[in-house]
Amino acid sequence: MEGLVYDCIIIGAGPGGLQAAIYLGRYNRSVLLFDRSGGRTWHAPHIENMLTQRDISGSEIVLRGMEQARSFGVTIEQERVVAVEKDDLFAVRTGAATYASRAVIVASGVYDKLPPLGNLARFLGQGYYTCIDCDGYKTTGRKIVVMGDEMGSINLAVAMKRMFTPDVSYLPWRFSLPASTQEVLAEENITVLTGEPKNIQGGSIVEGLEMADGSSVPCEGIMASFGVTLNDDYLKGLVVKRDAHGFKYVVSREFESSLEGLFIVGPLNTGQDQVVIAAGEGAVAAIEINRRFLQQEMETSPGNAVCAWRR
Ligand SMILES: Cc1cc2nc3c(=O)[nH]c(=O)nc-3n(C[C@H](O)[C@H](O)[C@H](O)COP(=O)(O)OP(=O)(O)OC[C@H]3O[C@@H](n4cnc5c(N)ncnc54)[C@H](O)[C@@H]3O)c2cc1C
Repeated sequence: MEGLVYDCIIIGAGPGGLQAAIYLGRYNRSVLLFDRSGGRTWHAPHIENMLTQRDISGSEIVLRGMEQARSFGVTIEQERVVAVEKDDLFAVRTGAATYASRAVIVASGVYDKLPPLGNLARFLGQGYYTCIDCDGYKTTGRKIVVMGDEMGSINLAVAMKRMFTPDVSYLPWRFSLPASTQEVLAEENITVLTGEPKNIQGGSIVEGLEMADGSSVPCEGIMASFGVTLNDDYLKGLVVKRDAHGFKYVVSREFESSLEGLFIVGPLNTGQDQVVIAAGEGAVAAIEINRRFLQQEMETSPGNAVCAWRR
């Protein structure tokens, strides 16, 4: 284990981890942030729903956030965390070394499950969308195909129709639609497509879906729902409470998990998956960590009256 005990180790340089790092850095806490690079924010080409930013790329948010965090004394290492353990302190392991800290903020995000569709990487976030809150608006008035591999994607198709565009087709991916849902979609004037798509067609913009049988479905955008996988492999040695599905982590209102001192922000917990929300959660977690440290420090300083720090 490296000699220094950090006040906080943060895992992930997305909006959640970086915002927490900026707060803790500005409390003059010692902060080490690990990032293996290339998260969800990094891959978002056009973010339009952040206050004061009409259109900013995720990579710009990350790079500017890193620069800002470093300016407040935060150390950022480009490394993958492989394990976190807890005794009195946390031990955070990378491939190269083990580091000790008093608190840990898990901000490593999730990644989208993507179907095997040709050209998908080219259109991700630019015509192939995975988040209605992020990108539904960009489809306003366009010819859209909604697709997904579970029943929830039917609600997505209806929501798209009601909010953004009258021209919605729905493609169930490798599952059969119950008759009752076919009726709902018919009432909403949503066309149900059959067959399996093979490639997204288009040059700089989406123009259609090439189907496995060689036919083509013209469209100007795709809204897809295939779920996400959590970037949390390194937590498997810890006992941390999850939701009723055994999937996302349950946290307190300060974003502390069931393991004291381990905070989990962003879409790994049960909340919404948005840049400003991850950042807000990072700020709340950082304020709570600092509040707690300050209280502990006041309690253990000789001659100091025990103060109840503001909550
Ligand atoms: C195409 C696309 C478009 C989007 N558009 C919008 C939008 O318009 N508006 C909006 O609000 N949101 C948008 N989002 C969602 C937004 O990106 C997420 O809400 C946001 O990423 C959550 O931030 P985060 O800090 O939790 O995680 P991320 O941004 O995912 O960052 C997590 C970081 O942790 C790192 N990491 C993971 N595992 C490890 C490990 N073991 N060790 C070290 N580092 C690790 C990753 O490399 C990554 O850098 C979009 C997402 C995508 C994919």
